[in-house]
Amino acid sequence: MANYEDIFKKVVAHAKEYGFVFQSSEVYDGLGAVYDYGPYGSELKNNIRTYWWKSMVNMNENIVGIDAAIFMHPTTWKASGHVDAFNDPLIDNKDSKKRYRADVLIEDHTAKIENKIEKEVKKAAKRFGNSFNQEQFINTNPRVLGYKEKISAIMARFSKAMENDDLADIKTQIEELGIVCPVSGTKNWTNVRQFNLMFKTQMGSTADGANDLYLRPETAQGIFVNFLNVQKTARMKIPFGIAQTGKAFRNEIVARQFIFRMREFEQMEMQFFVRPGEEIQWYEHWKDARIKWHHSLGMGEENYRFHDHENLAHYANAACDIEFKFPFGFKELEGIHSRTDFDLKSHQEHAGRKLQYFDPEINESYVPYVVETSIGLDRMFLTILSHAYNEEKVNGDTRLVLNIPAMLAPVKAAVLPLTKKDNMPEKAREILKELQCDFNCQYEEKDSIGKRYRRQDAIGTPFCITVDHQTLEDNTVTVRDRDTMEQSRVSIDKLHSIISKKVDIKNYLQ
Ligand code: ATP
Repeated sequence: MANYEDIFKKVVAHAKEYGFVFQSSEVYDGLGAVYDYGPYGSELKNNIRTYWWKSMVNMNENIVGIDAAIFMHPTTWKASGHVDAFNDPLIDNKDSKKRYRADVLIEDHTAKIENKIEKEVKKAAKRFGNSFNQEQFINTNPRVLGYKEKISAIMARFSKAMENDDLADIKTQIEELGIVCPVSGTKNWTNVRQFNLMFKTQMGSTADGANDLYLRPETAQGIFVNFLNVQKTARMKIPFGIAQTGKAFRNEIVARQFIFRMREFEQMEMQFFVRPGEEIQWYEHWKDARIKWHHSLGMGEENYRFHDHENLAHYANAACDIEFKFPFGFKELEGIHSRTDFDLKSHQEHAGRKLQYFDPEINESYVPYVVETSIGLDRMFLTILSHAYNEEKVNGDTRLVLNIPAMLAPVKAAVLPLTKKDNMPEKAREILKELQCDFNCQYEEKDSIGKRYRRQDAIGTPFCITVDHQTLEDNTVTVRDRDTMEQSRVSIDKLHSIISKKVDIKNYLQ
């Protein structure tokens, strides 16, 4: 069994070889942490976005969508706090000249301690067999408790230093923990500095008169500044939500791990506006709704967990992440934040305009509180791809298959004439024509049928429909299932309903 790093490398190579993800401007040797989606990647990405949109907007009467511009008035970012506080602490290793995020170095260190806990649990589970009570073990075993205490102490000190902007103490902490640069192996660190993650650009034709603008680092602000426009025009009553998908840009200090951390990426966000005092109840509601959405994809409930933020952002009174078990460990996939009335209040002050809601039920005007759900589309793409990638042994051979949830698969069915003769291609094209309006389908006649099946497996196509001699006699085809590889003979007029049943979004939506 290959280790996780090997699997991740294979997923990245597969994504390129089969037209899912390419490095941006690859002919010029690429651009750091910027990626392009190829023919299958763009289909998969669209399908994920659609699933999110349907479940958030179409399935909730009190949520509507918008599509705000990437450019916004520069004061937006002053009001949101991004100009002053959207920073990451960076540190360089003087020997390797490599740059790191200080918080990530510390998190990686605590992850190593967490691994030790996992090892203790595994060892104990083996020793105690069926009578093993994992929860009790974690809460009572002295060694595990010691590790947990260590992690808490490290995180508490780090949070305090961040809160007090005490960058010197973060450096001391890194030194005291004995954290070394993974490249040079030394502890020869520079001081820690703050680095603002927003990209700057200019609008206007003359250098003097040009306005400094930022590329938005999150989509949320387009929703906040449109809060009243949407509430009034769509006649929304609190509680209600506004959803949006779109590009965001962050000048990430360290951008590794493929599309996990990009400098240009896409977010799918929903801001839910509620009565002050009711935000925690809605925060719990959205935590529950969002984890169910993830579970609906059938990628194993054990691969998700909540992580509560100890170090709350300046705008939040409760926050957590939904983490997914990527090939490189549990990492943030989605954030759920109770943002209070911070953003609306701040825009109200900076713009000098009221952003209030008159609540007819209590006869009062107020600035609503906000609970947001924010997920990276590219990160979601990576969870699907890395979970779907499987190498199976079949008759002494290796079958490479992407077990993508059928509803999200880039191609739903491939129509394959067994040979290029005897009118089979014409018949296959007739079938394709019948299906392609409702499902993304492919026609392929090159190579042996076995090779064509394998190519479809490698891009995750749930169905292969083969036209053979019998088809010409009785209008039946064989349908091969991607996951079981079983083939069945079915009448052509049943194809539409067979595919539809499997890929219908309704099977997944709850
Ligand atoms: P991280 O701690 O990983 O930097 P964050 O807490 O800054 O993420 P948020 O600001 O909460 O992230 O953004 C919401 C979501 O947007 C994240 O959960 C993630 O899925 C996605 N996201 C954030 N930054 C990136 C990035 N650089 N590349 C891809 N997706 C990202």
